Order: sequence, then C-alpha cells, then structure tokens
Amino acid sequence: KVVLGIETSCDDTAAAVVDETGNVLGEAIHSQTEVHLKTGGIVPPVAQQLHRENIERIVQEALSASGISPGDLSAIATTIKPGLALSLGVGLSFSKQLVNQWKKPFIPIHHMEAHALTIRLTNQVEFPFLVLLISGGHCLLALVRGVSDFLLLGKSLDIAPGDMFDKVARRLSLTKHPECSSMSGGKAIEHLAKQGNRFHFDISPPMHRVKNCDFSFTGLQHVTEKIITKKEKEEGIEKGQVLSSAADLAAAVQHTAACHIAKRTHRAILFCQQRQWLSQSHAVLVVSGGVASNFYIRRALEIVTDATQCTLLCPPPRLCTDNGVMIAWYRMDYSQTLRQDAVKQSGWRKEGP
Ligand code: ATP
Ligand code: FE
Repeated sequence: KVVLGIETSCDDTAAAVVDETGNVLGEAIHSQTEVHLKTGGIVPPVAQQLHRENIERIVQEALSASGISPGDLSAIATTIKPGLALSLGVGLSFSKQLVNQWKKPFIPIHHMEAHALTIRLTNQVEFPFLVLLISGGHCLLALVRGVSDFLLLGKSLDIAPGDMFDKVARRLSLTKHPECSSMSGGKAIEHLAKQGNRFHFDISPPMHRVKNCDFSFTGLQHVTEKIITKKEKEEGIEKGQVLSSAADLAAAVQHTAACHIAKRTHRAILFCQQRQWLSQSHAVLVVSGGVASNFYIRRALEIVTDATQCTLLCPPPRLCTDNGVMIAWYRMDYSQTLRQDAVKQSGWRKEGP
C-alpha cells in the first residue's frame, strides 16, 4: 500500500509518498516563510496564490522521487482542517482533481491528529501518550488514546506561542539584526536569548492563578511590547531600530514562555497519571510543532518529564513542522489499527483539571 499525502493548511505546500511500513518514498516541500517575513505575517490571499503556483510542481516532485506511478497509489490523503480556509482550499481542489483523474480513494485528514501521530513513524510509541503541539498556529495538550481517539486537555485561549514570538520579533525589528535577518521570529528570539540575561527584565508567567491546562500568550506579547516602547524612549531610539537590550528581552520572554508551557504540561501529566490514564512510571510526552525546536523550551520540558518519570520524545525537526509525510502516514497508522472513518469519529472531547 502506498499513499500520496498533500498538505496546504498554512504556509507550506507539501507532498509525500509513504508506504505502509512508514518508509518515505518521496517528499517535496515549498515554504513561503521568506515571503511572509517581508509582509510581517501571513496574508491569506498571498498564501493561497503561492500554494496555487507551487502545488502541481511539489506533488510531481514527490511522486517522481518515489518512483511510484499514479496508477500504483492506493489513495490520496489531504489535510481538510484545521487551517486557513484559502490555503486548505488549494490542496483540497487539487487533490480532488487528482482523485477524479486517477480514480483513487480520497482520505480527509485532520492536521492536528496527523501532527500528533507523526512520532509513531519514527519511534515505537504505544497508546496512550500525551502530546504537546506548539507552533505558529496551534497550542494544545491532548491525550492520544488511539489513532483518531483524542482527549483535549488544554489549548491556547488566544494566540499560539510561535505567533507570540513572531510578533515580539517583529516589534523588535529582528529582521534588521545582522545575525537573524532570515530567521523566523521564534528562531531569532532563541538565537538572541543566548546572548542575553533574562534577569534584566521581570515578566510574570500568564494565568498562574488559573489551575487548568489552558494557555495564553497575548498578555505576554503585550507586556513585552510595553517594555519595548519604554526602552525605546530610554535609549532614545526610533521605532524600527534594534534595541541594545533586545537580547536581554528575548531571554526574558523566552524564559517566561518556557515556564508557562512547562507548568501547564506538568499539570496535564499529573492529571492523567492520577486518573491512571497515563502510567506513573513510563508515560510518554511527545512534543511537536515549530516551537518544539526551541532548546530552551525543550530543556524546561525535560525538567518536567524527569520529575514525573516520563519520556520526552520529539520527531526530527523536518517532521515537527508542517509536511506531507504526516498526512500520508496518518492513514497507514490508522489502517493498521483497523478502525474506520478517521476524521468523522475523531473525538477532541475537552477534559481537564
Ligand atoms: P501550524 O501551526 O499549522 O503547524 P506554522 O507554520 O505556524 O503552522 P510551524 O511551521 O510548525 O507552524 O512552526 C513555525 C513557528 O515556529 C513560527 O511561529 C516560528 O516562529 C516558530 N519557531 C521556529 N523555530 C523556533 C524556535 N527555535 N524557537 C521558538 N519558536 C520557533
Ligand atoms: Fe502544523
């Protein structure tokens, strides 16, 4: 069995061909990050146009690399939700076209579930396990009880951490910083934070009185922006120039975000362990999404997993961010467990402390 996976939910046009044992036979990806960095964020019609320009080439590249002819494909899997409607539409209409042309079954895929299951392609992980997805568009904690059997424990009540890092980086004009001009906001913050002293600024963690597993990053963004405005006045520099204290501020905001993420995750692990939904001695926490590549945040999560006898696992960086492999793989993992109707039955029931 061989499945073609197509992903266009946000700003990456991706495709991959994966077989039932999890071998990636071919993959291709086009990232729009550079274009969106210039406009200071994703403009949906621009993303849509770029997906349109690239989708055919990307699917062709993935197929050619795999050496599989369209006739030998078992099915075509495509992300149908969640994501930007305009972006999703491009992948969806393109794959419908292929489905008709090649007479193949169509498999609708839930993007977040695909992210959560990716780890089972690279590691032997049994259900149930806890997953923390942290990216530019998403922030959630869920208990994965089976393929397409998810229990949502907490999510961001406002923006995702990657979005917060991107906004703060933009406000700090980090694209003008010689060392981080072509980095994503989060990467630039991590890079600068290594040179900074987090103790120069005191930013308190969000929601510390709310004892559940939800997240919030807007307050953190606004507090940081206020400090930037104040510092600009003190340093006598214009908006748009890089502050001399940018590294200290990057270190402080990264530290506060890491503490917030680690604290909520710690609560989720304890909550699940108390209910015996997760083992007290060998539970697994999977962390994925673009923000999972941040080593400071990973270190904070390691402290939590060490304290709770959990194993921390992250897919390799190329599988942490949006990709076609996870879309093609979802179905393979799914058919091995012999359950049906992945997306329709998917739970996402909310439960938590
Ligand atoms: P989705 O939310 O659908 O997965 P996305 O494109 O926003 O889509 P990713 O590609 O997974 O998400 O990740 C991009 C985000 O990760 C950006 O917001 C970026 O700033 C953040 N990011 C990337 N590297 C780092 C890092 N080292 N530290 C913190 N954040 C990072
Ligand atoms: Fe994603």
